[in-house]
Amino acid sequence: MSISPLMPVYPRCGFRPVRGDHCHLIGEDGRRYLDFAAGIAVNILGHSHPGLIGAIQRQAETLMHVSNLYGSPQGEHLAQRLVDLTFADTVFFTNSGAEAVECAIKTARAYHQHVGNDHKFELITFNNAFHGRTLATISASSQEKMHKGFLPLLPGFKYAPFDDLEAARALIGPNTAGFLVEPVQGEGGIRPASDAFMQGLRALCDEHDLLLVLDEVQCGVCRTGSFYAYEQYGITPDVLATAKGIGGGFPLGACLATEKAARGMVAGTHGSTYGGNPLAMAAGEAVLDAAANPAFLEHVRTMGERLRARLEQFIGNYPELFELVRGRGLMLGVKMKGEPRPFVAHLRDNHQLLTVAAGDNTLRLVPPLVIDESHIDEFMDKLSAAAASYQVEQPA
Ligand SMILES: *Cc1c(COP(=O)(O)O)cnc(C)c1O
Repeated sequence: MSISPLMPVYPRCGFRPVRGDHCHLIGEDGRRYLDFAAGIAVNILGHSHPGLIGAIQRQAETLMHVSNLYGSPQGEHLAQRLVDLTFADTVFFTNSGAEAVECAIKTARAYHQHVGNDHKFELITFNNAFHGRTLATISASSQEKMHKGFLPLLPGFKYAPFDDLEAARALIGPNTAGFLVEPVQGEGGIRPASDAFMQGLRALCDEHDLLLVLDEVQCGVCRTGSFYAYEQYGITPDVLATAKGIGGGFPLGACLATEKAARGMVAGTHGSTYGGNPLAMAAGEAVLDAAANPAFLEHVRTMGERLRARLEQFIGNYPELFELVRGRGLMLGVKMKGEPRPFVAHLRDNHQLLTVAAGDNTLRLVPPLVIDESHIDEFMDKLSAAAASYQVEQPA
């Protein structure tokens, strides 16, 4: 037998974390790493946050899981908080981002099919999007590397270039149900959509009775400096998928919708065994307790601006390595002149700094949202040491 017990679908690196300490991870070998990856934009409160730990511990002792056959005071409370904080009137809880996007896709189809418009099943999505790894969510992405080996795809998706309103408009036809879009593409390379694009999609939806479905799995929950990124575009969606940061490390996601958009999601149409169980709700409550307030958002914006300013000043020293900085809040990308993966490995292995590569040659920085100046200083020290040594080791 040569296959590993862990199905070998991830190209895992040699770093083996065993403990978390605020904005650092400690490896099996005892070394400390500065964590600007945060489980890929998940650990927004850092590791070992007392409020989150306490909430999970208390709930685990009280009631961990019950079926969605029963009334859920825990789910009702967290859903109400999300309704109060957002455009939404109703919430379906999931265990992951892909499931939240799945629910959003089903909600969009059901919106039209509920009134007999069965032909309006197609979602227009955007090149280099990432929506998850289930069959529907890989079908929603234009990226062929995610399709390979898993054909046939689910019908009902058309791809337009990202941030190109005219191309999106041109794809609207009799079968169109709506648009599915990340306001800030994450895996695609930390690329924020323009205001004109997001506002234009909203107008097209209003004009043609289509649904605007946002995938804020990565950019949501304070990451960009507002609770959800759509707030910065001056629009509201009809449906929104959220996950990653919302559990702070506990597996939790949600599909948020307006009452109108959710008209097809009636009793018996959708479900999940674990989705919204009391343990997950306790984690979500603890994250909102810590993060869903103006002072926390102000902190994210301030740290985001400082980090961005330091990066912009710094990359000029290495024009052969770095091209530009983009993103919003603490969702930042440094576009590199070439493939970022060797540099990510160099940062990790030689400077104990964790980052993530993303599409379009982007070095992705999605630290815990609780970083302070000292972490930015530590980050910049490691980055500049790494850039200096990288040139020596790997001349272009
Ligand atoms: C991570 C991600 C997903 C998928 O989330 P999972 O929890 O891995 O299923 C979907 N959409 C976006 C934008 C993401 O970044």
